[in-house]
Amino acid sequence: MIDKSYNPKGIEDKWYSYWLEKGYFKADSVSDRPPFSIVIPPPNVTGSLHLGHALDVTLQDIVIRWKRMCGFNTLWLPGTDHAGIATQNVVERELKKEGRDRHKLGREAFIEKVWEWKEQYGGRIIHQLKRLGASCDWDRERFTLDKGLSRAVREVFVRLYSEGLIYRGDYIINWCPRCHTALSDLEVDHEEREGSLYYIRYKFVDGEGHIVVATTRPETLLGDTAVAVNPEDDRYKDLVGKTLRLPLLGREIPVIPDEFVDTSFGTGAVKVTPAHDPNDFEIAQRHNLPFIKIMTGEGEMSDEAGPYKGLDRFECRKNILKDLESDGLLAEVKPHTIGLGHCYRCKTVVEPYLSKQWFVKTRPLADEAIKAVKEGRVRIIPQGWENSYFDWMKNIKDWCISRQIWWGHRIPVWYCGAMTNQACKDKDGIIVSLETPGECPYCGDTGLVQDEDVLDTWFSSALWPFSTLGWPDDTDDLRTFYPTSVLITGFDILFFWVARMVMMGLKFMDKEPFHHTYIHALIRDAKGQKMSKSKGNVVDPLEMTELYGTDSFRFTLAAFAAQGRDIKFSENRVEGYRHFINKIWNAARFIFVNLKKEDKIEPVAGLSGLSLSDKWILSRLSSVAAEVNRTLEEYRFNDSANIVYQFVWHELCDWYLEMIKPALFGDDAVARGAALSTLVHVFETCLGILHPFVPFVTEELWQALPVDKKAESLCVREYPTEKDGIPDREAEDKMRLVMEAVSGIRNIRGELNLSPSLELRAIIRTSNGTGDVLSENISYISKLARASSIEIGQDVDKPEDAAVSVNPAMEIFVPLKGLFDVDAEINRLNKEINKIEDNLLFIQKKLSNEDFMSKAPKAVVDESKDKQADYNDKLSALMGNIEKLRQWGKQDG
Ligand SMILES: [Zn+2]
Ligand SMILES: [Zn+2]
Repeated sequence: MIDKSYNPKGIEDKWYSYWLEKGYFKADSVSDRPPFSIVIPPPNVTGSLHLGHALDVTLQDIVIRWKRMCGFNTLWLPGTDHAGIATQNVVERELKKEGRDRHKLGREAFIEKVWEWKEQYGGRIIHQLKRLGASCDWDRERFTLDKGLSRAVREVFVRLYSEGLIYRGDYIINWCPRCHTALSDLEVDHEEREGSLYYIRYKFVDGEGHIVVATTRPETLLGDTAVAVNPEDDRYKDLVGKTLRLPLLGREIPVIPDEFVDTSFGTGAVKVTPAHDPNDFEIAQRHNLPFIKIMTGEGEMSDEAGPYKGLDRFECRKNILKDLESDGLLAEVKPHTIGLGHCYRCKTVVEPYLSKQWFVKTRPLADEAIKAVKEGRVRIIPQGWENSYFDWMKNIKDWCISRQIWWGHRIPVWYCGAMTNQACKDKDGIIVSLETPGECPYCGDTGLVQDEDVLDTWFSSALWPFSTLGWPDDTDDLRTFYPTSVLITGFDILFFWVARMVMMGLKFMDKEPFHHTYIHALIRDAKGQKMSKSKGNVVDPLEMTELYGTDSFRFTLAAFAAQGRDIKFSENRVEGYRHFINKIWNAARFIFVNLKKEDKIEPVAGLSGLSLSDKWILSRLSSVAAEVNRTLEEYRFNDSANIVYQFVWHELCDWYLEMIKPALFGDDAVARGAALSTLVHVFETCLGILHPFVPFVTEELWQALPVDKKAESLCVREYPTEKDGIPDREAEDKMRLVMEAVSGIRNIRGELNLSPSLELRAIIRTSNGTGDVLSENISYISKLARASSIEIGQDVDKPEDAAVSVNPAMEIFVPLKGLFDVDAEINRLNKEINKIEDNLLFIQKKLSNEDFMSKAPKAVVDESKDKQADYNDKLSALMGNIEKLRQWGKQDG
């Protein structure tokens, strides 16, 4: 016998350990069963579980448990990402607390520190995934910096380089002066801010007049090497080719024509700072202009900045403006909205910066990746994301893959220090190699220096679907599980990760990395706001599992995971689904209480003595099992969850359990046997259907069910299909009529506010054919509707003074005489109406008061408006009730 109520704590640990011990989560490298595989989006080692992960993991676990039960050779491969900048930042902060920093420590010692940190804290998130019930094959856990993956990374780098798809170049990159590293375009958060547009006079060297240029970053004028105008711009046509004197530094710079210049911006003449602006960088390349770097990697002014050397970039801006003003060169300052880039890690304002970086030439890779989706080899679900994918892929820029940090895959490039012969010089002394080279292959010199940079974290995660399966070796795992079946992740990493996996998978495996990718929406709070620490609306998943049990939490996530819609999450909902878990528990208790030792549970197929309700529930079970499988196949998790929820709660518990009570408690052994066998069968099947969603409670109950089971654990029970039920159209049609009759009488009871225990009399006027069905099942109806007598017929008379409920198949009358005082009820309702009208008047006065409306905060006004609408709704409902009662009462006279 099970406990009175469900207590998740001990039960969850017990079954999770049992599953691990039995090895149910382990995949077979070679198997006759069809494969089904998922690689986990590797969470950062620095991470701790947030709602986004919880959703990710729950949906993946539902799919993998379902497929496992369907008989597939399933692999869910877990692991973590080394998360370059994020992890380095965490360890740097720790060092700072001890008054140390990484530069003093040195590279090797620092990396050792990070590994120590990883050993100590990096497992936290994995532990948290287990708490959610994740059925990963933990023996195959990987880390993006482990030996095998590092080997894959080198292999890919070397191959891409040898094919000319990786190159080193000067480039304007996004630079974070705080993190001291390049950031990819995706790693820069853009924000609109109120700033200024400064108009600055550049005088001609011949002393005749000047040109005014407009800029939002006046300090960069120190690095100007030209002023550009549009060749079509009549205002400047005659000035092209003349020479200007750069303000403050006095350098001579030319006026050049370039079609890129937007004639509507500022004055139509722009300063060109090739080393500090991506557009100017391109202009400079077209016109062969010099590049002058006026800033250091720390965001301070360099030697090239003359008298401003050593100043912080924002300090320098102030000084420059002051000096321009006193030289009479600052023509005007206008307010201007500027798009400012920030480092996504530390929020520092990003600086466009000229440096030597490594790039992947993405165009050819992206073209293949577009094709794979166009041809349906990769399906993006929901399909709406495909357009964003195509847009991004079509406009993709080369991917800057070098990062100026220490934690990560060090770039497998060495530089020859000697360059003693021409062969070496031709190669710029660059050596790219799988193994650390001992000497320069071109000139034999041994003074080699490895590139200081590491690769972008996303470089290694782009290889995740095949590097984790053993690539570059040709392994059984790789042959069995690649391409993987589905990737489940959030839209925020569609470009960072998903798109790049498609490119790399196609390039190195010649096959897409996954057949499907399901992109889930964002989880917001109950009001639809983004969750953030500053708003204080962040929900901790582990707290939810602690308070309500993991199953309730998982079921909530699944039930709200509708495609393409943000999930509005609230604790109330988890609490609500805990009731569902309890409902399942109580249904089990009902079975255990009523099942006697001597009871024999028979297979339902061919069982004699099945009642209408037995046939009906078996037929519904068949449809529900089919529907759940179908919706899971389409990743409609919310639909699957709601279908099984409705079935278990309403059809099984509310209707079926009530309907079979007479049979269970009666003397007819055949009827009792049929009901009991059906009940146990339906319940056992429901536990199977529910298992992927709520694995713990279902396993606990299933193991306790005292019946023959064909598996050792629910984990490996065959997943139910429509064959587990018995389709029976006729039974469903008949039951619908019975349910309509019962509901009709119950509705009247509700409208009249009658106590549930009060016995009624009911008269049912039927249309053709329905009467027989109802008469056959009159005992159900009278029991479920608590009717002491029921009269059924095609030509029964409508009694005087009766409440009425009508549906297409029948009219139901409940005589009120002696049961109910219509006048007293109308009086009571009228009093309620008066009260509500008073309240409404008060609110209306408030809302028409101009003083209140202008001063009250919007939230207060909204609240009043909501109340007003509420009261109006109630009012019309009460009026409707009175109207009905008056009609029913009329028959009085
Ligand atoms: Zn930063
Ligand atoms: Zn050399």
